[in-house]
Amino acid sequence: MKHPQSLVFWICLQCLIVSGLPNALTAGNPEVGPSALLAGGPVIIGATLLQERFLTCVAQVSDELRDTPNSNERLTVVVLEHQKFLEMREGFHAHKTKLAFSSLLARRIYLSSRIFGDFETLLRCITHELGHFATQSVYEDHAERAADRIRQRARQTCQSAVQ
Ligand SMILES: [Zn+2]
Repeated sequence: MKHPQSLVFWICLQCLIVSGLPNALTAGNPEVGPSALLAGGPVIIGATLLQERFLTCVAQVSDELRDTPNSNERLTVVVLEHQKFLEMREGFHAHKTKLAFSSLLARRIYLSSRIFGDFETLLRCITHELGHFATQSVYEDHAERAADRIRQRARQTCQSAVQ
Protein backbone atom coordinates (compact mmCIF):
# COMPACT_ATOMS: atom_id res chain seq x y z
CA MET A 1 0.00 0.00 0.00
CA LYS A 2 1.27 3.41 -0.91
CA HIS A 3 1.41 5.92 1.86
CA PRO A 4 0.57 9.35 0.44
CA GLN A 5 3.08 11.14 2.62
CA SER A 6 6.00 8.95 1.64
CA LEU A 7 5.04 9.50 -1.98
CA VAL A 8 5.35 13.26 -1.58
CA PHE A 9 8.71 12.80 0.06
CA TRP A 10 9.89 10.61 -2.78
CA ILE A 11 8.83 13.10 -5.43
CA CYS A 12 10.72 15.82 -3.70
CA LEU A 13 13.92 13.87 -3.36
CA GLN A 14 13.90 13.53 -7.12
CA CYS A 15 15.21 17.04 -7.39
CA LEU A 16 18.69 17.42 -8.72
CA ILE A 17 21.63 19.69 -8.53
CA VAL A 18 23.38 20.68 -11.71
CA SER A 19 26.68 22.43 -12.01
CA GLY A 20 26.70 23.94 -15.49
CA LEU A 21 24.62 26.31 -17.55
CA PRO A 22 23.43 25.40 -21.04
CA ASN A 23 24.31 28.01 -23.66
CA ALA A 24 20.67 28.81 -24.28
CA LEU A 25 20.41 30.15 -20.77
CA THR A 26 23.46 32.34 -20.60
CA ALA A 27 22.46 33.84 -23.94
CA GLY A 28 18.90 34.50 -22.82
CA ASN A 29 17.75 37.62 -21.09
CA PRO A 30 14.91 36.60 -18.79
CA GLU A 31 12.54 39.27 -17.64
CA VAL A 32 13.07 40.23 -14.08
CA GLY A 33 9.97 40.66 -11.96
CA PRO A 34 9.21 43.47 -9.53
CA SER A 35 10.57 41.39 -6.63
CA ALA A 36 14.06 42.19 -7.93
CA LEU A 37 13.57 45.64 -6.47
CA LEU A 38 13.24 44.31 -2.96
CA ALA A 39 16.67 44.35 -1.40
CA GLY A 40 17.84 40.98 -0.21
CA GLY A 41 14.90 39.01 -1.58
CA PRO A 42 15.29 36.46 -4.32
CA VAL A 43 14.63 37.35 -7.97
CA ILE A 44 11.48 35.47 -8.91
CA ILE A 45 10.54 34.89 -12.52
CA GLY A 46 7.28 33.52 -13.89
CA ALA A 47 5.32 33.31 -10.64
CA THR A 48 1.93 34.76 -9.78
CA LEU A 49 1.82 37.46 -7.12
CA LEU A 50 0.71 34.98 -4.48
CA GLN A 51 3.41 32.48 -5.42
CA GLU A 52 5.98 35.24 -5.43
CA ARG A 53 4.93 36.38 -1.98
CA PHE A 54 5.28 32.84 -0.63
CA LEU A 55 8.68 32.18 -2.24
CA THR A 56 10.03 35.51 -1.01
CA CYS A 57 8.81 34.72 2.49
CA VAL A 58 10.47 31.29 2.53
CA ALA A 59 13.76 32.73 1.28
CA GLN A 60 13.61 35.44 3.92
CA VAL A 61 13.15 33.02 6.82
CA SER A 62 16.07 30.94 5.51
CA ASP A 63 18.72 32.27 7.86
CA GLU A 64 20.87 29.32 6.82
CA LEU A 65 21.44 30.99 3.46
CA ARG A 66 23.38 33.86 4.99
CA ASP A 67 27.14 33.77 4.89
CA THR A 68 27.27 30.94 2.41
CA PRO A 69 29.59 31.31 -0.62
CA ASN A 70 28.21 33.93 -3.05
CA SER A 71 25.32 34.71 -0.70
CA ASN A 72 25.77 38.39 -1.59
CA GLU A 73 24.56 37.46 -5.08
CA ARG A 74 20.82 37.22 -5.58
CA LEU A 75 19.18 33.87 -5.68
CA THR A 76 16.90 33.44 -8.67
CA VAL A 77 13.79 31.28 -8.64
CA VAL A 78 12.33 30.46 -12.04
CA VAL A 79 8.81 29.05 -12.25
CA LEU A 80 8.10 27.28 -15.52
CA GLU A 81 4.95 25.82 -17.00
CA HIS A 82 5.39 22.04 -16.59
CA GLN A 83 6.16 21.29 -20.26
CA LYS A 84 8.78 24.06 -20.33
CA PHE A 85 10.17 22.72 -17.05
CA LEU A 86 10.63 19.31 -18.66
CA GLU A 87 12.45 20.89 -21.62
CA MET A 88 14.72 22.89 -19.34
CA ARG A 89 15.36 19.78 -17.31
CA GLU A 90 16.55 17.97 -20.44
CA GLY A 91 18.91 20.86 -21.16
CA PHE A 92 20.49 20.35 -17.76
CA HIS A 93 20.49 16.55 -18.09
CA ALA A 94 18.48 16.47 -14.89
CA HIS A 95 16.29 13.68 -16.20
CA LYS A 96 15.19 12.22 -12.90
CA THR A 97 13.72 15.31 -11.32
CA LYS A 98 9.95 15.73 -11.24
CA LEU A 99 9.23 19.20 -9.91
CA ALA A 100 12.36 21.12 -8.99
CA PHE A 101 16.06 21.36 -9.53
CA SER A 102 18.80 23.82 -8.72
CA SER A 103 22.07 25.08 -10.05
CA LEU A 104 24.36 26.00 -7.16
CA LEU A 105 26.76 27.70 -9.54
CA ALA A 106 24.15 29.89 -11.22
CA ARG A 107 22.27 30.37 -7.92
CA ARG A 108 19.07 29.38 -9.64
CA ILE A 109 16.18 27.20 -8.60
CA TYR A 110 13.84 25.92 -11.31
CA LEU A 111 10.32 24.95 -10.31
CA SER A 112 7.58 23.31 -12.32
CA SER A 113 4.31 25.21 -11.98
CA ARG A 114 2.89 21.87 -10.79
CA ILE A 115 4.75 22.35 -7.54
CA PHE A 116 2.01 24.77 -6.52
CA GLY A 117 -0.62 22.04 -6.72
CA ASP A 118 -0.63 21.46 -2.99
CA PHE A 119 0.95 23.26 -0.08
CA GLU A 120 2.83 20.31 1.45
CA THR A 121 4.58 19.47 -1.82
CA LEU A 122 5.44 23.10 -2.35
CA LEU A 123 6.81 23.55 1.17
CA ARG A 124 8.77 20.31 1.03
CA CYS A 125 10.36 20.96 -2.35
CA ILE A 126 11.27 24.63 -2.10
CA THR A 127 12.84 24.18 1.34
CA HIS A 128 14.72 21.13 0.07
CA GLU A 129 16.21 23.17 -2.77
CA LEU A 130 17.11 25.99 -0.38
CA GLY A 131 18.73 23.34 1.80
CA HIS A 132 21.18 22.64 -1.01
CA PHE A 133 22.12 26.33 -1.12
CA ALA A 134 22.38 26.57 2.67
CA THR A 135 24.75 23.61 2.86
CA GLN A 136 26.34 24.19 -0.58
CA SER A 137 26.07 20.45 -0.86
CA VAL A 138 24.80 18.21 -3.65
CA TYR A 139 23.93 15.50 -1.14
CA GLU A 140 20.26 14.99 -0.34
CA ASP A 141 20.75 14.19 3.35
CA HIS A 142 22.80 17.35 3.90
CA ALA A 143 20.19 19.43 2.12
CA GLU A 144 17.39 17.81 4.10
CA ARG A 145 18.97 18.63 7.44
CA ALA A 146 19.01 22.35 6.63
CA ALA A 147 15.65 22.08 4.88
CA ASP A 148 14.05 20.69 8.01
CA ARG A 149 14.82 23.81 10.00
CA ILE A 150 13.77 26.15 7.18
CA ARG A 151 10.56 24.14 6.77
CA GLN A 152 9.49 24.61 10.37
CA ARG A 153 9.99 28.36 10.18
CA ALA A 154 8.35 28.65 6.76
CA ARG A 155 5.32 26.69 7.94
CA GLN A 156 4.83 29.09 10.85
CA THR A 157 5.56 32.30 9.00
CA CYS A 158 4.74 31.86 5.32
CA GLN A 159 1.65 29.68 5.18
CA SER A 160 -0.53 32.73 5.68
CA ALA A 161 1.08 34.32 2.60
CA VAL A 162 -0.73 31.85 0.35
CA GLN A 163 -4.06 31.68 2.14
ZN1 LIG B 1 18.02 17.51 -3.69
